Amino acid sequence: MGLRNDQGIVLRGFPFGEADRVVVILSPNHGKLRTVAKGVRKTKSRFGGRLEPFTHVDLILYEGRNLDTITQVSVIEAFPKLRSDLDRVLAAGTMVEAIDAVTQENESSLRAFLLLQRGLRILESGAAHLDLLTAFLLGVAEVVGISPAFDHCAGCGRRDNLVRFSFGDGGVLCERDRTPGSVALRDGLTEYLAQLMNASMDDLPEADPMFSGEAIGVTRRFLEYHLDRRLGSVAFDG
Ligand SMILES: [Zn+2]
Repeated sequence: MGLRNDQGIVLRGFPFGEADRVVVILSPNHGKLRTVAKGVRKTKSRFGGRLEPFTHVDLILYEGRNLDTITQVSVIEAFPKLRSDLDRVLAAGTMVEAIDAVTQENESSLRAFLLLQRGLRILESGAAHLDLLTAFLLGVAEVVGISPAFDHCAGCGRRDNLVRFSFGDGGVLCERDRTPGSVALRDGLTEYLAQLMNASMDDLPEADPMFSGEAIGVTRRFLEYHLDRRLGSVAFDG
């Protein structure tokens, strides 16, 4: 026990006791940190707004038995533009929620951290788009090792006529290998999803409104199926 330095992106917080707040932070090297910010709910907290979700902070922590206490916090990256726009806040909330679902305490989470940091930086620099969220969620699937296959049938391996998606099989199927619970994909959606999976989040292919809504829907349901958890953010309703 003692003081130690760490850093991370604030995922969420909730009230604790009468005046304190538990703040859950994703550290690149130590996974999720459960910290407590004492007195943070008093009007003149010395932490100010520095422990709001999405903020990348540098911390000095006093190690406790269960929770580490934040003794000092400074902002590394605040993402102010993202916060001024509701669509971007909702998109950032979905990103944080998905990352929260796939990270643990006391384990390295560098890839998840870097993915979240990139996602927030892209939202900071431009508008939110469903395709960005789809690409982000496909990135989350990759981080946890469950990337869906869009280029061959999970049943027979063929590379054409990939018109159905199976959440359980983790990929597309041809019509002949359709399984109960698999969903039909609109013609062209398989290729659209494959493009989003292979693209860089800051250089996405031109969006097609015909496909964006269904692409996020399939990706979201796929992640929810494998994480056994709903992603509740209203960012999906756009
Ligand atoms: Zn097949």
